[in-house]
Amino acid sequence: MPSGWHTQDPASADGIPLKKGAKALLKAYYRSGHLPSPMGGFLEPLRVRSESDGSGTILLECSASSLRYQLAVPKATRAEKTAVKEAQAEGGALDCPRCESPTHRLRRVEGHLVGPCCGVRFGRAL
Ligand SMILES: [Zn+2]
Repeated sequence: MPSGWHTQDPASADGIPLKKGAKALLKAYYRSGHLPSPMGGFLEPLRVRSESDGSGTILLECSASSLRYQLAVPKATRAEKTAVKEAQAEGGALDCPRCESPTHRLRRVEGHLVGPCCGVRFGRAL
């Protein structure tokens, strides 16, 4: 079952899935960089959603066309999970190992450690 956006309006829940160029867009997103839109203009991140399989989804709006797109974010890699586990063991700050966003401190969501920046689960809350 899909976990919905935190909104009362299901009509705005989804965008057009981005497939072509998704890798380059993800890279730019992780760096908090400029996201060029397929329709011209740029893509502005609206929302981040966590999926039940541990991956994430980013909803984006095109500045030129106001079309909405969604970008699938791959699940955490073994190396990323290990990095978060090590930070947990050291008792340090738990930051998203992937994103450079200023709001990348991992949050506890239902026992998981989730990046608010990308929606990806990186481990279990202790
Ligand atoms: Zn992240």
